[in-house]
Amino acid sequence: EDDLALLEGEAAIEAGEPGGAPLPVLAVVGRPNVGKSTLVNRILGRRQAVVEDKPGVTRDRVSYPAEWAGRNFTLVDTGGWEVDVLGIDARVAEQAEVAISLADAVLFVVDATVGPTATDERVVRLLRKSGKPVVLCANKVDGPRVEADATELWSLGLGQPHPVSALHGRGTGDLLDAAMAALPKVSQHGSAIPAGGPRRVALVGRPNVGKSSLLNKIIGAERVVVDDVAGTTRDPVDELVQLKGKTWWFVDTAGIRRRVHQSQGADFYASLRTQAAIEKSEVAVVLLDASTKLTEQDTRVISQAIDAGRAIVLAFNKWDLMDEDRRPFLEREIEQDLVQVQWAPRVNLSAKTGWHAERLVPAIERALASWETRIPTGRLNAFLGELVAAHPHPLRGGKQPRILFATQASTSPPRFVIFASGFLEAGYRRFIERRLREDFGFEGTPIEISVRVRE
Ligand code: GDP
Ligand code: GDP
Repeated sequence: EDDLALLEGEAAIEAGEPGGAPLPVLAVVGRPNVGKSTLVNRILGRRQAVVEDKPGVTRDRVSYPAEWAGRNFTLVDTGGWEVDVLGIDARVAEQAEVAISLADAVLFVVDATVGPTATDERVVRLLRKSGKPVVLCANKVDGPRVEADATELWSLGLGQPHPVSALHGRGTGDLLDAAMAALPKVSQHGSAIPAGGPRRVALVGRPNVGKSSLLNKIIGAERVVVDDVAGTTRDPVDELVQLKGKTWWFVDTAGIRRRVHQSQGADFYASLRTQAAIEKSEVAVVLLDASTKLTEQDTRVISQAIDAGRAIVLAFNKWDLMDEDRRPFLEREIEQDLVQVQWAPRVNLSAKTGWHAERLVPAIERALASWETRIPTGRLNAFLGELVAAHPHPLRGGKQPRILFATQASTSPPRFVIFASGFLEAGYRRFIERRLREDFGFEGTPIEISVRVRE
């Protein structure tokens, strides 16, 4: 009994480690060409070099796992996107705002050889408003000769400028030390979702799948006018909506309404928005365009939601454009491209006509219920006992790892820890996951299984 309690305690701690509690997020912001990408590459090391020499190259990731002085954190990178010359100022500010909202601390990069510009000042105002800790990087200080340029940046009122040469590495150690000091141990993001209160829904999907059409359809006349729902603080970018007698938060709707039309960097920008919305939500409704071929951007959005551990509903929109010829192709695409989310509820609908829109809420509710499911330890171990007896782990080199004990360390999403006498093969873990889903449902939620090896 004591041993079991100890293991359960350990499993709970485990869930608080990577994959459990979110890592603190450091966002690198600044206007184009100040050296953000160069700095990010330096922080990540050569292994993960992401800088491309071509301007306007779209990255497929927004955040990267990073480490400094033994601390793990998530680095949000806003470099590598190119903006139109027109309206550059507003775009930088808007993009910085999203990155800042994602962050626990901000690394603000300024080109010391140029000095503070009006765009920099604009970002500074956003930083102040956010109240987040800021570390000021005075970049392109390649040698002592330009050191004096850095001191000029005290005028930004953000405290000490750290002279750095992202290109040569000069000063980056001190800069990262300062960033680590500014970063909280655990991300504040998880706790940004208050317990109780309306559930938080993010409508996500690549540009033009119909997010704003669906939002308008859903909200229609039903927008909640009263602000003061007990226990909520209103964020102006989120909308409170009454649906089926219940109140819901639709998060980051301002991002959906404020449509940004521009070619270069649009993908990346959309990706950043998506990340921000997902972080704030409990369930992500991923919109897909049923009338055209699924794209890599679609699967990327889905991966973002899975990686963040959110409940997921897939909404196949534009069903009114669906013709019978396309139907079998879509089924095949779903089988091939969406293997990783076969467990998500699917709703076929049309944001334009409103057809099946009422099916969305029940699907969301099912996904959220799964997301919060807890399987009692006794039931879980009885289930595993039967499963292992019928399908033992394959023998490898004359040895066979035994499953000693398992427990669900947390919910939202469900995380399981299995204690075993040896390493469990990935195939066997997938088999366990499949069986868990068959027996306990988990429709609409990712689940995580980790294995601790015990002698
Ligand atoms: P981003 O648009 O902010 O991501 O900027 P980049 O990282 O793409 O850098 C813009 C340009 O500045 C590139 O030509 C870099 O090589 C150059 N650069 C970046 N950091 C430094 C630095 O510390 N010193 C010098 N001299 N050039 C730099
Ligand atoms: P967003 O970029 O994801 O917000 O997409 P929008 O809501 O702006 O929609 C992009 C385009 O698709 C617009 O021209 C919409 O009118 C159209 N659209 C959205 N939903 C549907 C739908 O269900 N059926 C049809 N036929 N068109 C749609």
